[in-house]
Amino acid sequence: MQIPFDNSYARLPDAFFASVEPTPVATPSMIRLNFQLAETLGIDRDWLESPDGLAVLSGNQLAEGSQPLAMAYSGHQFGGFSPKLGDGRAILLGEVRSEDGTRFDIQLKGSGPTPFSRRGDGRSALGPVLREYIVSEAMAALGVPTTRALAAVTSGEDVFRDGRVPGGVFTRVARSHIRIGTFQWFLARQDHENLKVLADYVIARLHPEARHSENPYVALLQAVIERQAELIAHWMQLGFIHGVMNTDNMNVSGETIDYGPCAFLDVYDPEKKFSSIDHQGRYSFSNQGSIGLWNLTRFAETLLPLIHDDQERAVAMAEDVLGSFFDLHQAAIERRFTAKVGLGKCEQGDWNFVKDLLAVMAESNADFTLVFRHLADTLETGKSQAFIRLFKSPDAVGEWLKNWRNRLKDVDQDEAVALMRRSNPVYIPRNHRIEEAIEAGNGADFGPFHRLNDVLQHPFEPRPEFVEFESAPEPAEVVQATFCGT
Ligand code: AMP
Ligand code: MG
Repeated sequence: MQIPFDNSYARLPDAFFASVEPTPVATPSMIRLNFQLAETLGIDRDWLESPDGLAVLSGNQLAEGSQPLAMAYSGHQFGGFSPKLGDGRAILLGEVRSEDGTRFDIQLKGSGPTPFSRRGDGRSALGPVLREYIVSEAMAALGVPTTRALAAVTSGEDVFRDGRVPGGVFTRVARSHIRIGTFQWFLARQDHENLKVLADYVIARLHPEARHSENPYVALLQAVIERQAELIAHWMQLGFIHGVMNTDNMNVSGETIDYGPCAFLDVYDPEKKFSSIDHQGRYSFSNQGSIGLWNLTRFAETLLPLIHDDQERAVAMAEDVLGSFFDLHQAAIERRFTAKVGLGKCEQGDWNFVKDLLAVMAESNADFTLVFRHLADTLETGKSQAFIRLFKSPDAVGEWLKNWRNRLKDVDQDEAVALMRRSNPVYIPRNHRIEEAIEAGNGADFGPFHRLNDVLQHPFEPRPEFVEFESAPEPAEVVQATFCGT
């Protein structure tokens, strides 16, 4: 077998998925392969690069051992419940185990219609394929739990979105593609039997420690809450806005999933949102923790029938666990943000101190990433001009800088610099750079796409040859709207 498949999801009851084969594309062509990831999955590099590899990764041929299927799921989208979503343009080819035994899904996106494609064509435009490749691999390099990119290909066919655009197929790898919405699928159908099958499957595959707990389903809820509390704090540390935190886009593995209208902040604005259809700011930067809890509450609802036969008892037990989310999330934020200013231990008053800086940044429309990088330079070199220049006036931040120097007096300076360096990336996938790569890619020039991917593989390491990727966009370069990436 070229891909060592072992497909556990395909062994679940029929109600979990629809078997469906990818629909071939006209003239596929490889854009980029992720050899490092392929190696951890036990997939041979020579085969991947061969015409057979391309045929599999474009959906034109089925690999031996593959049992292609579209997963069933529901979801709350912008607060409204859709009982029938499912993989409408994605097909799970199968699962493999990495060297350390971890099970991974291999999924094609844009591989043609499935029984869950309602209005759509099951295809993907090239733009979202390139965006997901860039951002998911950048997130991985930044250390954020995320789905991964194994390959991106052009299909040689156009798709119709706002107009005619080139199509692509993306190969996604994840510890699973099970979402809160997968649980909601069975709750919406009052199928408690399969709800239990799903929960037991998720515990065995993703949260095995929960099995030994007094109540494994409460422990499952707790485990997912812990992962999400930390994950969302990690996003915020880096200025990342997911953009469309629907319950079908929240993976119970704790991996970031669905890179549609997502983006990293340039200017710091806590109210910033990126989805052009998010009129209420439901998924804005600073609302991500609250919406995470909202989604986890929907998850808890699906587990109630499993937690206890007595509904009231079940609710009380679930509420108890849900109540831990905010403390966990807040503690993670405080730890991550105080590290950004060089403080390894968060002491009394330190979080307020960070909040003061964030307030000044918002006041000054300062660039989120540059502020923290230049702050580290300030400590290392003693020169603060570049930092101060990011603010409206020297007075705006002078008082804060003085207090910060004072606070850092008791701290080992080298350690503080090192902590800041590894908490504050030099390179993030800035939206204008992604757009630039997509625009060139739509004209069949993948140079900018490759260059951006290359620089983002080492986001914490300044390199003079990539200096232009550090900068914030010029006013004319700022991307005005990010649409849902279908
Ligand atoms: P997403 O925007 O990726 O969260 O997708 C929401 C739902 O729309 C999922 O059920 C997708 O499978 C479905 N969908 C998105 N784009 C397409 C498409 N081009 N064809 C068919 N279904 C789609
Ligand atoms: Mg989705």
